[in-house]
Amino acid sequence: MTSEGKVPAYPGLFTWAEDGVRIQSAKCDSCGTYFFPAGHQQHAPGCSREGVNEVMLPKNGKLSTFTIQHYMCPPPFKTTGDITPYGLVVVEFEEQNIVITGLLTETELDDLKIGMEMETTTYKLYQDDDGNDVVTWAFRAVK
Ligand SMILES: [Zn+2]
Repeated sequence: MTSEGKVPAYPGLFTWAEDGVRIQSAKCDSCGTYFFPAGHQQHAPGCSREGVNEVMLPKNGKLSTFTIQHYMCPPPFKTTGDITPYGLVVVEFEEQNIVITGLLTETELDDLKIGMEMETTTYKLYQDDDGNDVVTWAFRAVK
């Protein structure tokens, strides 16, 4: 998996692993909770927060729910143009007991089914002055 020509819109949220794009999560060894973003450690009231380690979520999860947006996200969300309508999906990573919201890269919105397997990928938001694609994490249906 290559990130050639792509830069993340914000650092530390996802990365390019050998087998694909992975969400950068963290796990608390005190209470077993996974959370995202990894820098957000307010995950469980009363937890000592000892032994928090950054971990990558699996590449694939399951579609928990979704919605179709017909209006643009307000700033600081930035794209080259109007991307409406677009899908926002919630993907569940069962073993880690965590759900992650993200953009959907699919355009066949009618084919979405709750429980279907989803793959982590990236979505081009815009091009920077150096010609790089500025991307965020996203999900697509596994075909
Ligand atoms: Zn904890």
